[in-house]
Amino acid sequence: MTSIKFNEPYITDKEIEYIKDVFLERRFYGSGKYTHLCEEKICSITRSRNVLLTDSCTSALEIAALLLRDFSRRQEVIVPSYTFTSSASAFARAGFEIVFCEVNESDLMMDVEDVRAKITEDTVAIVPVHYGGLCADIERICELAKENNIFIVEDGAQAFGAYLGEKHLGTFGDFGCFSFHETKNVHCGLGGALVVNNQEFSEKARHIWERGTNRQEVLKGLADKYSWVEIGGSFYPSELQAAFLFAQLESIDENMSSRKQIYKAYQLGLADLRSLGKVWFPDIRDDYQTNYHAFFIIFDTELTTDNVRKFLLSKEVQAFIGYVPLHSSPVGLKMGNSPDSLPKTERIAKCILRLPLHNNMSASEAMRVCSIIGEYFDDK
Ligand SMILES: *Cc1c(COP(=O)(O)O)cnc(C)c1O
Repeated sequence: MTSIKFNEPYITDKEIEYIKDVFLERRFYGSGKYTHLCEEKICSITRSRNVLLTDSCTSALEIAALLLRDFSRRQEVIVPSYTFTSSASAFARAGFEIVFCEVNESDLMMDVEDVRAKITEDTVAIVPVHYGGLCADIERICELAKENNIFIVEDGAQAFGAYLGEKHLGTFGDFGCFSFHETKNVHCGLGGALVVNNQEFSEKARHIWERGTNRQEVLKGLADKYSWVEIGGSFYPSELQAAFLFAQLESIDENMSSRKQIYKAYQLGLADLRSLGKVWFPDIRDDYQTNYHAFFIIFDTELTTDNVRKFLLSKEVQAFIGYVPLHSSPVGLKMGNSPDSLPKTERIAKCILRLPLHNNMSASEAMRVCSIIGEYFDDK
């Protein structure tokens, strides 16, 4: 019996070919041929017009934060506590006050009513996170933002290739941020993208991305002087990474269909345990096309979650816990949050188990994972 790893990076074998081409081009530093190819491809996949390739999703979030920051006043941003650190730290670093909100216990997405209750006159943005290949209640979040004149920065780090109706996740709000980290479906080691949906910000976004300069206008002959126009950063990847990513973007359909087999096997293999009430996993809306990024299950108690995880490990299956809430983390506490301020998040975060899902495993291996979980409950 072979062990089943939680994740294995996807490889198409074309990456190396394109990287060799970068050596022929002799243009390594980024914003070159492969960066542009990737941006075009990302535009077409996300059905959007304005994409900046970045070196991570964290960078994409940081650009969005800089774009919205007004250093002359207090500004708040509402972020779920159940998320990766970057969704909050990108904004904290730019000087925003972070207001953490709850997630729904059924699907781990931002609790819209809690967001509504936390809006103040200082609220500038909401950061919905599309977690685990599923989607936040983005339509209601958009309504709420519109009513209150607030921006939306979608953390779609895990949502590349996922659509709600005809629209790609990350294109509902003012900005969408994606990750091409090795642990995501499509990757280049480290990488990301910022989709600027609100055209008001498109020029400024490019300036921040280009280390605060107007270099793009100079290259296009629109400006004759190279100057410092914004407080920016070095946010884009090298051509080597872009070449790697381009190969991955080209084979997104094959990638997705192999993940789909595993995802379907989990849905099928755990259906009985779900109807017996032993495990829970959310239903997928009919109008939602997932990217099969992850498969997570929810148990009743922390003890069961931990026991199932250990039982799987004893059978050489790697399953991982979910996020540790941010509001009660060392940084969250330093910001003045109390651990019991978000009881739903505290409880549910301890009851999540993420199952292995990657392109090097088979549907029958996923079925094996389901049988092991079933075996655990047989004795109970
Ligand atoms: C992976 C991830 C990030 C960070 O992405 P990087 O590309 O590693 O910076 C941010 N938010 C969420 C929800 C993620 O899953």
